[in-house]
Amino acid sequence: MVAAMPELPEVEVSRQGLLPYLTGQRITGAIVRVDKLRHPVSPALGNRLTGLRLNTIRRRGKYLLFDCTSQSGGGWLLLHLGMSGSLRLVPPDTPAQKHDHFDLLFEQTVLRLRDPRRFGLLLWHAGETIDAHPLLACLGVEPLSEAFDGEWLYSATRHRRAPIKPLLMDARVLVGIGNIYASESLFLAGISPLRAAGNVGRSECATLADAIRQTLQQSIAAGGSSVRDYVHSDGGAGCFQLSCAVYDRKGLSCHACGTPISAIRQAGRSTFYCSRCQV
Ligand SMILES: [Zn+2]
Repeated sequence: MVAAMPELPEVEVSRQGLLPYLTGQRITGAIVRVDKLRHPVSPALGNRLTGLRLNTIRRRGKYLLFDCTSQSGGGWLLLHLGMSGSLRLVPPDTPAQKHDHFDLLFEQTVLRLRDPRRFGLLLWHAGETIDAHPLLACLGVEPLSEAFDGEWLYSATRHRRAPIKPLLMDARVLVGIGNIYASESLFLAGISPLRAAGNVGRSECATLADAIRQTLQQSIAAGGSSVRDYVHSDGGAGCFQLSCAVYDRKGLSCHACGTPISAIRQAGRSTFYCSRCQV
């Protein structure tokens, strides 16, 4: 069972699912039903957005960046799903339910944000570019970008004494690797989460980089096959059931060798691993 927090694959699938419906569409309004999520939400958001055309939706880490720039100004809507946020498309005039905090209105459809725990984020950023925004500028490498590979991981981890797993989850180093994906990638690569990052060798770094990509892409593919349902569903937080080899399997047999899966705490988070397969 996978935790309900949206991770990089869920955010990416939301993006891919929304693009065909929203690209190039004119925003006819916005409804803000909440004062504050993680930060205060500006009641003026509606005025800023109304009349703008949505050029595209980008992703940086787990942030969705709605590009509403134009020659006459415009800007960006920056959205983060937090702990429990989800996006869906609903027909115009669909009544809002509890926890539906924000609507972005288009002529044919409504993009609706539901966020029961209110850790999400909605911000307006005026101007041409958004990459230098303080929330984005400090983010590390995108694991699905060309910049990320074994060589990059090897150089980024030299002289690091911290264990490899918390380092993989450090957004200043690498973005979007949550607890589940860190645990699963390390299992796939056969590397113990306890290893000092600086002691993971060059070929192991290559194996681990591949494992990270593969784990994320599998999850995106699993979600991608149900994108249509996903963006139109009225369901939960939109998490994909990843079939986990180690995550949340404490005491259960390793599928590869039968050893009971170990669970420990690392940097305040649960780590699951096989003490025989991962060295
Ligand atoms: Zn094993």
